[in-house]
This record gives sequence, C-alpha cells and structure tokens, in this order.
Amino acid sequence: MEDKLITKDALGREVKDLSIIRWWGIDRKEIDWFPQINYDKCARCGVCFISCGRRVFDWDKKEDRPIVARPYNCMVACQTCLNLCPCGAIEFPNIEIVKKMSVKAKIVKKAFEIMKDIRDKEETLNSKETEIDPDA
Ligand code: SF4
Ligand code: SF4
Repeated sequence: MEDKLITKDALGREVKDLSIIRWWGIDRKEIDWFPQINYDKCARCGVCFISCGRRVFDWDKKEDRPIVARPYNCMVACQTCLNLCPCGAIEFPNIEIVKKMSVKAKIVKKAFEIMKDIRDKEETLNSKETEIDPDA
C-alpha cells in the first residue's frame, strides 16, 4: 500500500500518513503505541520534533512547544524520542502492549518463514557453487 502525502510540518517537511501501513498484518490504529509529552518537564528544545523521521511530532508555534500530531505514524516499539529527550518529558505506554501485539500477530513465526526463504535460496546457491567448483 502506498503511503500518502498529507501535509507539511512546521519546518516545511513532507508528512506522510504512515498509519495506513499495517504492522505485521495488524491495523496500526489498533495499537496504542505512541509518545505523550509531559509539558511540566519539557524544555521546548525541539529535539523530538526535529529528529523523528516519521513526523509524529509537529510544532505548535503559538504555544512554542511540540505536539504529538500524528500518533499512529509512530513506529511500534520505537522509543528513540524518549531516549533523546534531555528532560525525560516523553512517556510511552508499558512495553507489554507491544509484546501482546507481537504474540497476536505471530511475528516470530512469520519472521522464521521469511528467513526460511533466504536460507533456502542461500542453500540452493551454495549447492550450485559446489557443483561448478573445480576443486570440489
Ligand atoms: S525533546 Fe523533550 S524537552 Fe525537547 S521539545 Fe521534545 S519533549 Fe520537550
Ligand atoms: S518512538 Fe520513534 S517513531 Fe515514535 S515518535 Fe518517537 S522517534 Fe518517532
């Protein structure tokens, strides 16, 4: 599915609607994983707004502070903004939400299936190389 350009942010950067991309087959909007800002702690430095490549944040020019403008653009299980915030002002739900969703979506089983494709191809390639190896 193509992501859709929806707008531009306060810095004039393009914003796409990434909420339409399913997460391991689950509707992204079923997963309540996104940051919240504690304005009592926020120093308004802009690090979260500038550094999130998924444009979850925008900048409220009137209040001169970040806002969580597109929560479902957030990458499930990412916490980069929390790690970068110098004030501890960004909060996330309990990681158990993600763990429950990963079980529901059977992501480990799906990952093994995807990796099996790579491994099978690699094995086929290796056996072909052995066939043509003059030293074999
Ligand atoms: S990184 Fe933290 S302190 Fe800086 S604007 Fe974002 S929430 Fe506020
Ligand atoms: S967790 Fe990652 S994707 Fe989500 S808002 Fe923070 S930096 Fe952006």
